[in-house]
Amino acid sequence: MPEADYLIIGAGLFGAVFAREAAEAGKSVLVLEKRPHIAGNIYTKQVAGIEVHQYGAHIFHTKNQAVWRYVHQFADFLPFINSPLANYKGTLYPLPFNMHTFHALWGVTSPAEARAIIQKETAPYQLKKPTNLEEQALSMVGPEIYHKLIEGYTQKQWGKEPRELPSFIIKRIPLRWTFDNNYFNDPFQGIPQKGYTDMVEKMLSHPNITVQTNTDFLSRKETYLKQFSKIIYTGMIDEFFDYRFGALEYRSLRFETEVLQQADLQENAVINYTDQETPFTRIIEHKHFTKQESDQTVVTKEYPEAWNQTKEPFYPINDKKNQRLYKKYVKKAHEYPQVHFGGRLGSYQYLDMDQVIYQALVFAKHELHMPQEKSLEVADKR
Ligand code: FAD
Repeated sequence: MPEADYLIIGAGLFGAVFAREAAEAGKSVLVLEKRPHIAGNIYTKQVAGIEVHQYGAHIFHTKNQAVWRYVHQFADFLPFINSPLANYKGTLYPLPFNMHTFHALWGVTSPAEARAIIQKETAPYQLKKPTNLEEQALSMVGPEIYHKLIEGYTQKQWGKEPRELPSFIIKRIPLRWTFDNNYFNDPFQGIPQKGYTDMVEKMLSHPNITVQTNTDFLSRKETYLKQFSKIIYTGMIDEFFDYRFGALEYRSLRFETEVLQQADLQENAVINYTDQETPFTRIIEHKHFTKQESDQTVVTKEYPEAWNQTKEPFYPINDKKNQRLYKKYVKKAHEYPQVHFGGRLGSYQYLDMDQVIYQALVFAKHELHMPQEKSLEVADKR
C-alpha cells in the first residue's frame, strides 16, 4: 500500500477538492474510491456521443464568487439557465412559480391580478401553525397550484402523502412576480463544457495524488486506521461505525436511461411530471445542458424509491429521529480524532456542489494551515 500524508476516502467533489489543496500544499495524498470511477455523484460519461449525468441532473450554480473562480481552474463552463417545466396531465407549466406559470394557470398578465388570485385561493387555509406539508403548501399557494404542481410530485418524491410529511420540508415556496423562468437566484450558473468527470479528473491530476478506484476502505478499515495518521472520510458516517446505533435513512432513486433515434424528445433539459399516476418524477434530456448537436438523443427517467443498504443513498431524511441518530455518530466520531468526516454522506446533509467545494476549501485552509483567502471568509452566504 502506498504511503501518504493523507488518506482520502471517496473521489467525489469533497475528496477531490481536499486532495488537490493538500497536494498543492506539498502533501502526498492517496485517494481510495470504491466505485470503478471517480467524481462521485457528479460523474458524467459519454453515451452515444452525448455527455450523460449518471446520478441525476447536475447544474452548477453559486452565489459564491470564490467557488466559481475555483472551479474555473479545472473546467470551462458553458452558460446554462435552468428553466424546468412541469407537465401535469399533458399541460406544461413553467417553473419556478412565476408570472409565466400564473399566466398558464389563470391567463393573468399582471402581478396584481396574480397576487389577487393567490390571496383568494390561500385565504381559507390560513392556520396559526401548519402541522404538515399539505397544510403548509395550501396556506402559501392555495389548492390549484398545490394539486397540480406540488401534491403528486411530493408524494412520489418522498413515498408518503404530503399530509404525513412534516411542514418544514417546504418552509418557503418562492413565488416570483416577474416573467422569469430561471430556477436559481444565483448570479453564477453553468455546466462544465467537457463534463464533470473531466473537471474532477483535472483536480486529481497532480504528481502528489494517487487514486485507487474499486477499493473499499471499509473492507480493510482497521489496517488503514493503523497506517494513516490523517484520514478524510466522505462515505456514510453510520456505515463507518458498522451501523451500531442503527442506519440513517435516505430516499433513493432509480434511473432509466435510453438512447432515442431522434434529434429531440422534449426540447428542454428537465421536465417534471407532477401528477400522481406517472411513476417517474422527471425526464432529463442530457443534450440540452450543453446544447450538443446530434441526430440522436439520450433521456433519463428518474424514479424515486425506498432506500435500503443495497441502494444508493441520495436524499437524507432529515427528520428529528435521524438527526438524533446522526448526533450519536458525531459523538462516536470524536473517538477517532485522526478522521475528518466530510461531504454529503460524512455529514448526513443535502449539499449542493458549491457548498461541498466551499466546505472542502475551508477545511483545507484550516487543516493545512494556509492563510484564509479573504473571499472565502466572507463568501458563504447560503
Ligand atoms: P459523493 O459524490 O457521494 O462522493 C463520495 C464518494 O465516496 C463516492 O464516490 C463513494 O463511492 C465514495 N465512498 C463512499 N464510501 C466509500 C468507501 N467505504 N470506500 C471508498 N469510497 C467510498 N448539486 C448542485 O449543485 N446542483 C445540482 O443540480 C445537483 N443535483 C443533484 C441531483 C441529485 C439527484 C442529487 C442526489 C444531488 C444533486 N446535487 C446537486 C448535489 C451533489 O450531487 C453533491 O453536492 C455532490 O455530489 C456531493 O459530493 P461529495 O463528495 O460530498 O459526495
